[in-house]
Amino acid sequence: MDGLLKDRVAVITGAAREQGIGLATAKIFIEHGAKVALFDLPAENPAGAAKVLGENAVGIECNVMSKESCIAGAAKVAEKWGRIDVLVNNAGITQRRKVADITEEDFDLVNGVVFKGTLLMVQAVLPHMPRNENAAIVNISSLSALQGGGIFGGPHYCGAKAGVLGLSRAMAKEFGPEGIRVNAVAPGLIMTDFSRRGPSADAGKIEAGKAFPLGRVGRPSDIGNVALFLASDLSGFMTGTTLNVNGGDFIA
Ligand code: NAD
Repeated sequence: MDGLLKDRVAVITGAAREQGIGLATAKIFIEHGAKVALFDLPAENPAGAAKVLGENAVGIECNVMSKESCIAGAAKVAEKWGRIDVLVNNAGITQRRKVADITEEDFDLVNGVVFKGTLLMVQAVLPHMPRNENAAIVNISSLSALQGGGIFGGPHYCGAKAGVLGLSRAMAKEFGPEGIRVNAVAPGLIMTDFSRRGPSADAGKIEAGKAFPLGRVGRPSDIGNVALFLASDLSGFMTGTTLNVNGGDFIA
């Protein structure tokens, strides 16, 4: 099955890192006919990442914590391709902290990227989203939101990712009548730069994955493929849902 996103324009945040879920998702979307704008911080060189993907990709510098930056980024995409059919809110950071050690700065940073960033990007993209033409928003949450932490911890991260789930459901209700679907994905352990920053070495994580019912840790494309499903018309009667993608590590 190909062409699931033929002629659709997608924005994916946090999409420039080579090993990341965002870039893997961008590749899959392009393989399915989409034009994709890779949003990321300047230090991640989104233009360089887009160049590798070819003419159906564009890299845009954007800090999702800034309303101004989100609005400017969305406007650039609309100027180039005329509309935005799909938004994947993927940018995220975590910090390993105990509750007592979380500073206000820590809280503001993690919530700023994960929770506020999701809201700001939706607000920025909404004016460019067609109504009743299968537009879709996919918010990347985390297994941490469901089980109170993963191997990287961060209670403020767990809270922010849980906030993303509540926000997704509220947006699904509000935007449903306009034909815009909103769903979330809660990834388990996926091998990316993000998870490599955790407490154990790669080998330890790979070993941990052997205990999952499906016997392995996740690949970035495992999340990208689910994002493709939620962005495409295959999921046309789904909104306000959360899909757990974790190899069976957590079964609810
Ligand atoms: P990653 O670190 O490779 O990617 C995160 C991206 O977000 C990076 O490209 C980073 O530059 C970008 N980013 C950070 N702050 C930003 C900001 N202010 N503005 C714009 N971009 C910003 O990690 P990943 O594993 O690919 O993570 C992607 C998403 O998946 C994140 O939301 C993460 O919380 C979530 N997630 C990952 C795992 C995992 O095991 N890897 C598990 C659950 C959820």
